[in-house]
Amino acid sequence: MIRFHNVSMRYPGGREALHQLTFHAAPGTFHFLIGHSGAGKSTVLKLIYRAEQPAEGTVVINGRNVERMNRAQLPALRRDIGVVFQDYKLLYDRSVFDNVALALEISRFDPSKIEGQTTRILDYVGLKERMYENPIALSGGEQQRVAIARAIVNRPALVIADEPTGNLDRDMARRILALFDALHRQGTTVLVATHDLSLARELGHPCFPLRDGRLLTPEELRENPLEE
Ligand code: ADP
Ligand code: ADP
Repeated sequence: MIRFHNVSMRYPGGREALHQLTFHAAPGTFHFLIGHSGAGKSTVLKLIYRAEQPAEGTVVINGRNVERMNRAQLPALRRDIGVVFQDYKLLYDRSVFDNVALALEISRFDPSKIEGQTTRILDYVGLKERMYENPIALSGGEQQRVAIARAIVNRPALVIADEPTGNLDRDMARRILALFDALHRQGTTVLVATHDLSLARELGHPCFPLRDGRLLTPEELRENPLEE
């Protein structure tokens, strides 16, 4: 599902953001990508949905070599990946319903089924009663649930999230992670990047530990653990 092989990445003018990353997440697994700010977590996610390209190495998503894709192939890749951000990235000039329905329109979903599917997914994240409101009227946790609904309404095989609980209090963070956990139980592959080690530990899913753009081996992690 996700396969990185010897991936290195450098931003223009910057230092090396990732150094020779190799890891594999099999279909249907739930992993955390953990590390402090600047460790390289966002960069890994950006390579997955091809917002960035590696300097070296290969990134294979769903059996496809992402780093060699041309522009015309990107929409198909991104339809298969649901992306959730810390700051939600919702559109505040339209309703909750329209934020989610737009994702279906863009992917050329059968127009006669858009209303039903949008309503169903908003019910799933517990926001059916609020779907005609503007997202600005919602709490942070509710806005993040709209963002998750938008990311999963196309039923992507892979969902990736960049610090999805970073702006939320503990209880809401747990509720958001419980949603990702439910998706995982239904067979979706999930990768959640977070600096919040204790929250990641609560769920007990395997972790990819990152420090300074490198994945830590179990020995390195034992000698020099990531701190809270
Ligand atoms: P994290 O998500 O773990 O906080 P990032 O992937 O955002 O880490 O960043 C990894 C490294 O790459 C950091 O040193 C960061 O400063 C650098 N970096 C991230 N984005 C850019 C950019 N657009 N230009 C230059 N350097 C960047
Ligand atoms: P960070 O501080 O972790 O780099 P940002 O808030 O700057 O996070 O944005 C993360 C990245 O996601 C940016 O590089 C941006 O280009 C990209 N991005 C923003 N919106 C979308 C989107 N809807 N789909 C795909 N990529 C996006």
